Amino acid sequence: MDWMQGPMLHQSYPGRVNLCVDLGASHPVDEVGIRFLGGTPWDLTAGIDLPGWIEVFVADERRGPYRKIATYSRFTPGDDERHGVPRPAGQPLVFGFRFPRLGARGRFIGIRFYANSYVATDELYVLRGGTGDVSGEPSDFSVSEVQMFFHKPAVHVSPDIATPLPIGCVGVRSEKPKSLVVALTVPKGVRILQGGLYAQSVGEATVTEDAQGITYTWRFDTTLKLPRKGSQTGSDKAFARLYWIGQPDEGAPQALRHQVMWGDYRSPVIETPIVVHEIPEPKISPRRLRTSLGWWRFQDTPLWPDWKKAFRHVGINTVCGFPKQYIVDDAKTLQRVQAFLTEAREFGFHVEMIDNPLRRLWIKGARHNRAGQGRPEHREILCQFEGGRTGTRLCPSYRGRFFREETARLGRAVALFRPDAITMDIEVWSDQCADPPKCTRCRARKQEQRIASWDEWKKRQGIEIWSALYEACGSAAAESALATPDIGVFEWTTGEVFHTVFPIDELYPERLHNLQPRFYAPFGPHHLRVIGRHLRAQRRRIDRNDLKPWLGTGDFGPFTGETFHYALLECFLNGARGFLLYSNRTLDADLLAGYARATRTIAPFENIVVDGEPIDVTVEGMGRASAMKLDSQMLLLVEDYDREVDEVRLRLNVADEVVVHDLDDGAKVGVLGPGKAVLLTVPVHDVPARLLHIGPSDSQESEGQF
Ligand SMILES: [Zn+2]
Repeated sequence: MDWMQGPMLHQSYPGRVNLCVDLGASHPVDEVGIRFLGGTPWDLTAGIDLPGWIEVFVADERRGPYRKIATYSRFTPGDDERHGVPRPAGQPLVFGFRFPRLGARGRFIGIRFYANSYVATDELYVLRGGTGDVSGEPSDFSVSEVQMFFHKPAVHVSPDIATPLPIGCVGVRSEKPKSLVVALTVPKGVRILQGGLYAQSVGEATVTEDAQGITYTWRFDTTLKLPRKGSQTGSDKAFARLYWIGQPDEGAPQALRHQVMWGDYRSPVIETPIVVHEIPEPKISPRRLRTSLGWWRFQDTPLWPDWKKAFRHVGINTVCGFPKQYIVDDAKTLQRVQAFLTEAREFGFHVEMIDNPLRRLWIKGARHNRAGQGRPEHREILCQFEGGRTGTRLCPSYRGRFFREETARLGRAVALFRPDAITMDIEVWSDQCADPPKCTRCRARKQEQRIASWDEWKKRQGIEIWSALYEACGSAAAESALATPDIGVFEWTTGEVFHTVFPIDELYPERLHNLQPRFYAPFGPHHLRVIGRHLRAQRRRIDRNDLKPWLGTGDFGPFTGETFHYALLECFLNGARGFLLYSNRTLDADLLAGYARATRTIAPFENIVVDGEPIDVTVEGMGRASAMKLDSQMLLLVEDYDREVDEVRLRLNVADEVVVHDLDDGAKVGVLGPGKAVLLTVPVHDVPARLLHIGPSDSQESEGQF
């Protein structure tokens, strides 16, 4: 509600949202409707999107029990068509969901939806009428108690490796602590190994076993402080992360059951279907591609049971960590971190350091400034205005003691981490660095540097600041006898002057080694194409496959592992030699299975991805293709994500006879050429896309790569 105008309900990617309408008295309910904004008009980042799913409930009392009378879900095949939901295509839209002919009765109408990225709604209605004899199914919907929720309509598990099960929670805070009891029952064949729920570990749960399976019960007193400032209600997408493994035995329920009790409230037992994903060990792991979990907290990794095995199966070859959490005067912590890093390296993992230099410098100055007292010398960090006042942002001319301390800290972090790669996040001038024209220090420095335009002058400061950070990393690496790490910065891409300060094209490739556009969106067909097209456009401006995009993992709207797999292929087939992920909150076995599928298919051909050249392919009619070529071999991703055609027809120039293989199943698709504009017909009636390998007939089969 804070940065959208008008009487709209708006929240940024909060997950589950519950609303309730009081009709004043019990009425027969014929139809319920609710209108949302959608269309994700911002292509590269989380735009406004329709909810991923919506449920409608009725009750006679506000406190419930509520009964479910209608649902819509993007995850249910055919539901979008049934509701006439328009496909996001980069254009804003308004869409009203209608739930007609409900035939129910009640005084309270509950509406629950899963909010993707940003959600905005301005109107809902309830129409009176109908028979009123539909009772609906029991539910745990509530606007006065507490509910746990999952991020997809099913929960996902693997028999091969332990994977995280992320659980969210919505609730209303209590004045006084009340007893919260959460009981989770997994079917026989499945076990929870590790993790925690609202600061309680699995070890603290009571474990009982019966014919149904194993029940883990957590019991503690709480006021339920969920992270929603200034509000009595809260939603926490990361209420629990449990690590589980297995698959339900034959005859056992193929569902996870849970029940929540809070004070005298008792929810019904809710069953959520379990989907099993095989994630076997791959024959070939990626070595040159940079594959990691990105924004996954370093200290969480040792909690992941047998994490080295899990990472190998998924195709993760790099562990990421944030040194800012460890650069403390605590010898024990440092020792633990170094022991972990040594262990990771011994098992062949690369190490990537993620850091946000300058941010604490800015906060250090701003915090003391806001308080109006404290240590006034810290205000020197900020822009200096006439009359002794200061701005609220870091001053781009400031190179004083705290700046030197910050670059030194970065160097110490490199010496501690010994990273193969460094990713930085420098978001201190999101106001486009507006203060300098009012700053006496900036004005003096501009005069001294004899630069006429503010734009040019800011770029000069950006180059100076970045060079200081870059050299701090480089010299620390050299002193520790390390190769220069692969360095990139979040959102720094070609053709841009980031925040009007950092001229990327003047830094890449000598002082900046990779470019990191971000794709934070609820991936659907439109967004998958945006990923591929945007990366390819970036790649055209540079000479190597130095793209390393950030991808969302569902925080901006959940999607399937299969979709995630296509998102990764769009990266690899359009100039990316690695990727990073944000965030860690909704990572599950479904996404990890998609990750594993993409890396397993690509790993044997990673040289084409890392060293190859993107080439243009002519598509006749509908469909789209992305190709990467290296010497006589080519990878080709052919898509019809919208499922509009049965086949995609391509024209290829083939110098010698080549063989086409489908990399998903290794099947030989055909033999082509030689010739100019040879026709290749790719069937896509049963899949959204196909990944093909094209190469000389004698090159690959002998190596057993298919
Ligand atoms: Zn300044």
